[in-house]
Amino acid sequence: MTGKMDMPLRYLKGVGERRSQQFARLGITTLGDLINFYPRNYEDWSNIVSIAEAPFNQTCCIKATAITEPAENRVRKGLTLYKFKVSDGTSTMMITIFNSKYAAEKIKPGCEYLFYGQVGGNFNHREMAAPQIETPGSGTRIRPIYRQTEGLNSRYIESCVSRALEILDKELDSDPIPADIRLKHNLCTRRFAIENIHFPKNAEDINIARKRLVFEELLILQLGLLKIKSRSRSSNTVFICKDYTDEFASLLPFKLTDAQARTLKECIGDMQGEYPMSRLVQGDVGSGKTAVAAGAAYTVIKNGYQAALMAPTEILAEQHATSLTSLLSKGGIKVGILTGSLTASQKRKTLEELSTGEIDLAVGTHALLSEGVEFKKLGLVITDEQHRFGVAQRAKLAAKGINPHILVMSATPIPRSLALILYGDLDVSILDQLPPGRKPVETYAINSEKRERAFNYVKKHIDEGRQAYIVCPLVENGEESDLASATEYVEKLAKGAFKGYKLGLLHGRMKPAEKEKVMDMFAKNEISVLVSTTVIEVGVDVPNAALIVIENAERFGLAQLHQLRGRVGRGSHKSTCILISDAQNEEAVRRLKIMCSTNDGFKIADEDLKLRGPGDFFGNRQHGLPDLKIADLKTDMSILRSAQSTAREILAIDCDLKLPQHQELSKEMAKLFEKVGEHGLN
Ligand code: ADP
Ligand code: MG
Repeated sequence: MTGKMDMPLRYLKGVGERRSQQFARLGITTLGDLINFYPRNYEDWSNIVSIAEAPFNQTCCIKATAITEPAENRVRKGLTLYKFKVSDGTSTMMITIFNSKYAAEKIKPGCEYLFYGQVGGNFNHREMAAPQIETPGSGTRIRPIYRQTEGLNSRYIESCVSRALEILDKELDSDPIPADIRLKHNLCTRRFAIENIHFPKNAEDINIARKRLVFEELLILQLGLLKIKSRSRSSNTVFICKDYTDEFASLLPFKLTDAQARTLKECIGDMQGEYPMSRLVQGDVGSGKTAVAAGAAYTVIKNGYQAALMAPTEILAEQHATSLTSLLSKGGIKVGILTGSLTASQKRKTLEELSTGEIDLAVGTHALLSEGVEFKKLGLVITDEQHRFGVAQRAKLAAKGINPHILVMSATPIPRSLALILYGDLDVSILDQLPPGRKPVETYAINSEKRERAFNYVKKHIDEGRQAYIVCPLVENGEESDLASATEYVEKLAKGAFKGYKLGLLHGRMKPAEKEKVMDMFAKNEISVLVSTTVIEVGVDVPNAALIVIENAERFGLAQLHQLRGRVGRGSHKSTCILISDAQNEEAVRRLKIMCSTNDGFKIADEDLKLRGPGDFFGNRQHGLPDLKIADLKTDMSILRSAQSTAREILAIDCDLKLPQHQELSKEMAKLFEKVGEHGLN
């Protein structure tokens, strides 16, 4: 489906530079994008009710004749009403138009119109305020409602879609889903689906169209995921002859927990097996996933290969590089770091050392994925905080070696049904044990009136040698003011509650080197209170920090709060998390209560699921999946299952999607995953 589908929107009459940019904000740049931009809802203008029988306070469509001229009534500056009476023979009704002289002037007594809105008033006096008004004829139908953006309203988008469909008439005949599969799963053609998702004749057709489009979307998703995973079926080329666990353990300043030892053993077992390792290590925050990764890396390296560890943020990459260097250099291992903030000459040197094999363990951000990064002999790829990466990125890093082993680490517990989709054939190890001596973090939710008392509590602990995080209050508009208000907040603390204490500020707009410096000072206890926007969320590890105060705690989801809280309780000191919030809304209050009642990440994930539903696990890119346009995993589980089995059947007969009938699928798949690559990271 190329050619016209890829034509830029400008080909539509009336769409120029400005409109194109507005459309781009909705992710639409080509005609193909436009017809694949599905309505988010519909208005039923086809079901016309009489005025006498129209239900009160429910949206409906009424066909009636204007019997008076619109009368202008200037209520005050900025508010002018135009009222007129209509009748459909069963009864009469007053219509009010707000402020639009233009709309009012179009109303002519004696003419018939469609009024779409809610009937108010009472049986003696019915009225409809601010209805949508159309002339009958083309108006009497189910109308699509699109997500709008500044400058583009749903009606305008509708008209563009309609024109695009005319231009793409021929293209609609090509169908990515082969006919036999459509038949088997009772799916309509692509033409029917696209035409009816936008301009359905009745509600039934929307369902038929929707089912087909959901199937298509999930089929393509599944094909992509299965292909990424299919590498694990090829045989193991990175042989691990010798197990170095004991040697590794002797380098550690602590004894591995049983869970860590078991998981490491599982990893090494995998790497000695017939196929490359594909393993997910799931462990709550603080369970010590890094040590497992280090152990696996150590073993691979001692067997003559390189390993790579990819982290989602620079801070985290720096931190891993520092701790792994101090841990593994005693074992003769050279750790190198690769992030976006290296100078050109540093970068050149690192790349060189990676390609010659001088660096054994490369730690970095997604910079590791860039072109020009070449390994001599990459045997193991580890991604930390897996949920922050796209599946495609993991695959991309793996492609830098010849079938390397893959280890992914995640602190986000996900429900089994979803795990199956995402990690279908990853083996899973669970670190269900925290290192010894950890005390559960005590969590309190307070309102802002008690802030001062909370700060006194924090100061008392700092005086005893501890350190604290404070997560800044929320600001409304954008990064600029975010920064300004964070700075202001720190200054206020420095002059007020925390006068005389060493404060540091960490925010998203700092240069990586500056961030690193602040983190470093915090790690060395040269800063007592680290005030931060949420950049500390993932992975940061400073065991002496035993307190965290989170302002505007209501703005965070449970998973995020749990991650933030996971920054403390990492050492042997008693730790405290204080959630400050004045929110009254029920859901926010409930979240804070849950936080106070448990430290168990799996319980929290369960509650999260109850509060938000599984859709959100995907919706907010928690797991690096492509955005789904139409499928909803809350309700479309059964379509998902048939899409999954269909994807397997297709790959079984055509593993590279080379057959002519699979060409379109192959292209669509590439497109979907390319997008993940672009913005799977934040
Ligand atoms: P996470 O699973 O959240 O990534 P980390 O790997 O950052 O956790 O480990 C958290 C802290 O626990 C680190 O300071 C680490 O040194 C420490 N740690 C890890 N394993 C053990 C252990 N077996 N005994 C004691 N401390 C440990
Ligand atoms: Mg970690």
